[in-house]
Amino acid sequence: MENGTTILFGLPGVGVDRVEADEHGGRTVHLRTTDPDAAACPECGVFSTVVRQRRTTRPKDLPYGEAPLVVRWHKTQYRCRERLCKRKAFTESIAELPPYARITGRTRRAAAVAVGSGRSVSAVTRELPMSWPVAHAAFVAHAEARLVEPVAPRVLGIDETRRGRPRWSKDEDGKWHRSERFETNFVDLSGPGGLLGQSAGRSAKTVTDWLDARGEAWNSAVQVVAIDPCAAYRAAVERALPHALIVADHFHLVRLANEMVTDVRQRVAREQLGRRGRAVDPAWATAGCCYEPVTGSPSGLWTG
Ligand SMILES: [Zn+2]
Repeated sequence: MENGTTILFGLPGVGVDRVEADEHGGRTVHLRTTDPDAAACPECGVFSTVVRQRRTTRPKDLPYGEAPLVVRWHKTQYRCRERLCKRKAFTESIAELPPYARITGRTRRAAAVAVGSGRSVSAVTRELPMSWPVAHAAFVAHAEARLVEPVAPRVLGIDETRRGRPRWSKDEDGKWHRSERFETNFVDLSGPGGLLGQSAGRSAKTVTDWLDARGEAWNSAVQVVAIDPCAAYRAAVERALPHALIVADHFHLVRLANEMVTDVRQRVAREQLGRRGRAVDPAWATAGCCYEPVTGSPSGLWTG
């Protein structure tokens, strides 16, 4: 029969032996294993009763109340006596704390749900006992279990996004590597699909890998692909979607047109006036007009 403290603590697979309070108001919860399956060898599945040693670990768990809560799990390490099993010893583990896990499953889930609700990973790590990469990995696992395959759009948009500044890190051999700061986004330009996918990198392979993973039926449904004037993207689309019409997207075309018109204005101003152009010059009166927002149907954005 579970005691009240075990029910209150509520972590499946373990029971609360006792709770100690320190002079600063902090509490330490001492746990013992109650899940009978924890004594089964993870390699061969055979239960063991031969104790090798007792160990105590300090898994991190959800905060509870205002005062700090420290968890101590008193685990048993067993010998596996199964003659054919490669494993000589194993330590108890439960579903909430699999082998080598130092953070409870419920803490990871709480972090994933918090990030999924729109909070930043950094904000979540200030409240839950985990680092940024761990919280991010928890969210990725949570999201991947729920993400569904996007519906194929008739018009697919592909563009790159840069996330922050490039960062350099050293690998084990002491070589410096620049982290990938670009992502390729795949969006639905003809329907309500919005952002369909995101992939690290901005090479042709980034695009072909993502499209290849969608499958033949998905790819054949795409009729038009809008990209920026980028040779890598064009080559990727020509290979993965040879039937699709490739168009340059409106934003980049307008930007190129503006840059060209600005070049001409500057050159003509230098030739005719012998100085830089000024806002009062007639040639500059219409500068920037191409930046006016485009209105109309979404299809107007790519058919131009
Ligand atoms: Zn075994």
